[in-house]
Amino acid sequence: MSYRSPVNDIRFILDHVVPLAPVAETEMFAEATPDMVEAILTEGGKLCDEVIAPTNRDGDLTPTKLENGVVRSAPGFKEALQALAEGGWVGIAADPEYGGMGLPQAINVGFNDMLSGANLSLQLNPLLTQGQIEALEHHASDEIKALYLPKLISGEWSGTMNLTEPQAGSDVGALRTKAEPNGDGTYAITGQKIFITWGDSDVVSNVCHLVLARLPDAAPGTKGISLFMVPKFLPDENGNPGVANSLKVVSLEHKLGIHGSPTCVMSYEGATGWMVGGEHKGMAAMFTMMNNARLNVGAQGIGVAEAAYQKALEYAKDRVQFTPIVEHADVRRMLTEMKAEIFAARSIALACGVAIDMGRATGKESWQARAALLTPIAKAYGTDMGIRVTNTGVQIHGGMGYIEETGAAQFARDVRITAIYEGTNGIQAMDLVGRKMMDDGAAAFRLLQEIEDEARGAREAFPVLAEDVWQAAEALREHTEWLIGQGMQDRFAGAVPYLDAFARVLGGYYHLRAAMAEGRNSARGHLAAVYIRRLMPIYAASLAEAKEGAEGLYALSVEDLEA
Ligand SMILES: Cc1cc2nc3c(=O)[nH]c(=O)nc-3n(C[C@H](O)[C@H](O)[C@H](O)COP(=O)(O)OP(=O)(O)OC[C@H]3O[C@@H](n4cnc5c(N)ncnc54)[C@H](O)[C@@H]3O)c2cc1C
Repeated sequence: MSYRSPVNDIRFILDHVVPLAPVAETEMFAEATPDMVEAILTEGGKLCDEVIAPTNRDGDLTPTKLENGVVRSAPGFKEALQALAEGGWVGIAADPEYGGMGLPQAINVGFNDMLSGANLSLQLNPLLTQGQIEALEHHASDEIKALYLPKLISGEWSGTMNLTEPQAGSDVGALRTKAEPNGDGTYAITGQKIFITWGDSDVVSNVCHLVLARLPDAAPGTKGISLFMVPKFLPDENGNPGVANSLKVVSLEHKLGIHGSPTCVMSYEGATGWMVGGEHKGMAAMFTMMNNARLNVGAQGIGVAEAAYQKALEYAKDRVQFTPIVEHADVRRMLTEMKAEIFAARSIALACGVAIDMGRATGKESWQARAALLTPIAKAYGTDMGIRVTNTGVQIHGGMGYIEETGAAQFARDVRITAIYEGTNGIQAMDLVGRKMMDDGAAAFRLLQEIEDEARGAREAFPVLAEDVWQAAEALREHTEWLIGQGMQDRFAGAVPYLDAFARVLGGYYHLRAAMAEGRNSARGHLAAVYIRRLMPIYAASLAEAKEGAEGLYALSVEDLEA
């Protein structure tokens, strides 16, 4: 059986678990009625299942190539990407003034989840374009918006983000690419960027690079970074691709997975660029792009996990060892836990999407703070979960999981990168315990209060599950109170387990809401019990680890580690 987009799960979550209804009540998103959402997700799911998913294996087996300086995409990718563009899917959440659909980010997250399950390598192409669209909408001049947005939104052109350099990975402030004024309002961009996803493409007529670089008088570190639009072809007076810019793809990386996604080493040799977002304000502008991408990278982990789960379930029903292996308790454990984890992560990602939409539509600080709090959790938990679940998918296949032809291994290889790019999951966790707690935990406490109130209200119908969720939220509240009293080094030492604990409590809460909607003896009620009783309790061990702080880690010297 081939991949089926999880339209029903996404709709259920948006109806009952993290309701989209308040978003649709705002003026900005009044068009996102239940009928519209259903139509969009159903159509999008059909495209993913019928057009995109069939290209996934080809992308793995026949990776992209660099021929005469031009990237040649994997078989079928061109047609599939063109179908996406023609359907308007690149611009789901983009501004209607420039041709976008103007739909909520929550719908876009749901679509990116389905698209990633169909083909992660391919999904990266519109994902980066979407991030670029959002950055331009917020930070570009009217001229740049008018020239680039309609073509990016229609999918005629695609977008990239260029941060990384050999010496500047997580430490973006170490970047050296230079931008020198040409005296005519443009800049000459010179430097090397590495790991640039879809840095070239034979699908579109122009590739638009958003490049971080330093002006001659720039301060060191992130304060001295500016952002530039550097197109592959300079637009002519009619806005069509004209003269080739002074940039090239030097080579493509050979990777563990996502073979269908070209990962490019780029060289800019005095390339013409236009500033976006003002002098030395590049990081603020790039953060718009990165925040969008972070949440949608979380959705990547969820989508690939879903595809791996579907494949594993199918195999477990067919494979007979005494009985069909789906009947063995350990296999049943693996399958139910996969399903429960996917549901938890999907709910968190969609909750983040709803918070972004509410923040935009109402301007309310409390929603914006919720979105900011949930973004690193959605990214890191979605992708860590994706790695766990795809690994379990290999395990369910037994020896065949290790053999490439089943496709189970491809999911595990492909999804591995999602915990690394867009800010490693370690950096996400540090963001959660650092910047996102600058409000002394106010946004976190508001969310925990909501969970506790809801759990209290559910005690009668779900005495055990509601009590467990309440206890977990209470433990997380106590830990968070302790955390905000600590110095950064101790917070950072426990950041990853703290984020994991936070995600598990949220996962328990959203499963409880699902159970409340459908009843204790429903499939969702049983799945909630699997998550809350078996997977959520890991929060306690994670919090214990987080509370140990940094001292014990440094008690072992580097020499001790070597001994
Ligand atoms: C396939 C692929 C596609 C990519 N696509 C793009 C793209 O399109 N555009 C782009 O600009 N970049 C892209 N990247 C780059 C990616 O974002 C970086 O690899 C990532 O940010 C990590 O940087 P790094 O590889 O230099 O690792 P490093 O920064 O060297 O990190 C190594 C390890 O140290 C940890 N670490 C580093 N600093 C700290 C710290 N301060 N505190 C605690 N731990 C720390 C990290 O968490 C990690 O575990 C891509 C990478 C790959 C592999």
